[in-house]
Amino acid sequence: MKASVFYKHGPPEVLEYTDVDDPVVSNNEVLVKVKACSINHLDLWIRHGRTGYSEIPFPHILGCDISGIIEDSNGFTDFNEGDEVIVSPGIGCGKCKYCSQGNDNFCKQYSIIGGWDRKGGYAEFASVPSQNIIPKPKNLSFEESASLPLTFLTAWNMLVKRAQIKTGENVLIVGGSSGVGSAAIQIAKLFNCYVFATAGTEDKLNKMKNLGADFVINHTSNDFGEIVRENTNRNGADIVFEHVGSATWSKSIDSLTHGGRLITCGTTTGSETDFDIRLLYRRQLSLMGSFMGSKGDLLHLLKFIDSGKLKPVLGNTFPLSEASKAHELIENRQHFGKVVLKV
Ligand SMILES: [Zn+2]
Repeated sequence: MKASVFYKHGPPEVLEYTDVDDPVVSNNEVLVKVKACSINHLDLWIRHGRTGYSEIPFPHILGCDISGIIEDSNGFTDFNEGDEVIVSPGIGCGKCKYCSQGNDNFCKQYSIIGGWDRKGGYAEFASVPSQNIIPKPKNLSFEESASLPLTFLTAWNMLVKRAQIKTGENVLIVGGSSGVGSAAIQIAKLFNCYVFATAGTEDKLNKMKNLGADFVINHTSNDFGEIVRENTNRNGADIVFEHVGSATWSKSIDSLTHGGRLITCGTTTGSETDFDIRLLYRRQLSLMGSFMGSKGDLLHLLKFIDSGKLKPVLGNTFPLSEASKAHELIENRQHFGKVVLKV
C-alpha cells in the first residue's frame, strides 16, 4: 500500500510517500480502508522526537484521527464490510482500575493509534482494534469526520470532565484558532458561557467570532490577561483553556479570577516557564492537566455532533502524498481548524 512514513526524527521533510507492506490484521483487529486522516500536534511532536516520543520503532506511520470504510471485518459481526466508520484514537488495557472506571485515558498502558508504539492512518489501510470502531456521523464528510475524535475528545475532557465548566462562566480559550481551540469555543458556548478567545491574525479572529466566541483578542499585539480583566469587572476568567505553553503561560495565569481553574493539554511553543507559586495560594488557583479523554465521553459528545450543535472545523486538506507540506503549514501556524490528509 501507499503510505507517508518516516525513518528518522526531524523536520517535515522526513515524511516520505512510498510503498510499504499492508498492515497485518491481528485477532482482535479489523482492517479499515482509510479515506481521511487529520493531523494533530501529537504527530508533530512524535515526528520531532520530543521527550517521551524519541524511542519509537522505525519506519513509523503517524495518524490517530481516522475515517474510512471497513475493508475486512475479520469475523466481527458488529459491523459489515463497506460500513463508513471513524476510529476512536485511544487504547486502554481494559483491565486496570482506571479502565474499569471508564477512565481509559488514565490507564498506565494507554496508547494511541498512530502514536509512539503503533502505526496509524497516514496510509491507504490501517489495522485497528475492533472496539475502537464507531459509526461515522451521517451528517459529516469523511474529511470532517476525521477532524473530530482527538480534538473534540481532548477539549471535552479539559472543559467538562477536568475543569467542570458551569453555565454562564467566563471562559478564555487561548489559541482558539487551532483544532482543539475551535472545538473548545463551541463546547464552552454549548454551556452558555461567555467566551474570550485569542489568535494571531485578524482573519483568525473573525473566524473565531463566526464559531461563537463573544470577545476575540489578538494575542500578538495585546496583553490578553489585562483585556480579560478589564472586561470582567476586573475579576478575570473562571476557566483558562491552555495548549500554547511558554509563549502565553504567564498571561494565561494573569487572566484567571480568584479561585479560577487553568487547564492545559499541550505546549506548542515550549514547556519551560517561570511561575511564582505564591499566586497559586493567594488567589486560590487550580492548575490542571489533561490528556485525551475516555471513549465513553467520545460517544457522549457525538450526540452533539449528530444534532449539529458541535461541528468539526475543516481548515485545509492535502493529498496523503503531501503530508510534509501539511505538517509545515501547521508548524508555521498558517491554518485555522483542522488540517486533513485525503487518502
Ligand atoms: Zn487500563
